[in-house]
Amino acid sequence: MNYRPKKVKGVMEVLGQQELKQRKLDGMFLNIAKEISTMSHCQRAKVGAVLVKDSNIISFGYNGMPAGMDNCCEEASTTGGLVTKYQVIHAESNALLKAAKMGVSTVGTTMYCTLSPCKDCSKLIMQAGVERVVYLELFKRDEGAVEFLSKFIKVQKHDK
Ligand SMILES: [Zn+2]
Repeated sequence: MNYRPKKVKGVMEVLGQQELKQRKLDGMFLNIAKEISTMSHCQRAKVGAVLVKDSNIISFGYNGMPAGMDNCCEEASTTGGLVTKYQVIHAESNALLKAAKMGVSTVGTTMYCTLSPCKDCSKLIMQAGVERVVYLELFKRDEGAVEFLSKFIKVQKHDK
């Protein structure tokens, strides 16, 4: 009888499976972020963000006016068209603020967002102790923000 040693999985194969699982989780949380973005009343862009710790959602947000204010996010610009009101809070900031309001620590979390964070949100994300950001689409009006944030924490575009 021929003796065949049982095939033992190599380190690379095991790592590959973990990465695959993480990618699936990333996709799932980004789908949730997309669903959350539909709650936004903003006309120019609807953005959703989910804050995750140890594979559990601890907070979420979408772009909109502060609670208690009129839900209208835009106003007519002097040159025609619509401009976003300065009071609008971005999805990423709203997710962090909701956690702060509830007394939930954001240290060591992953932020999933439908658009890459702007520079203002990036500062807050860093300062709140978020460790990783995964986004679906690049926010072209603030492209430099990803470069800035990448210097401090892990930032990645999700490949579908
Ligand atoms: Zn922002």
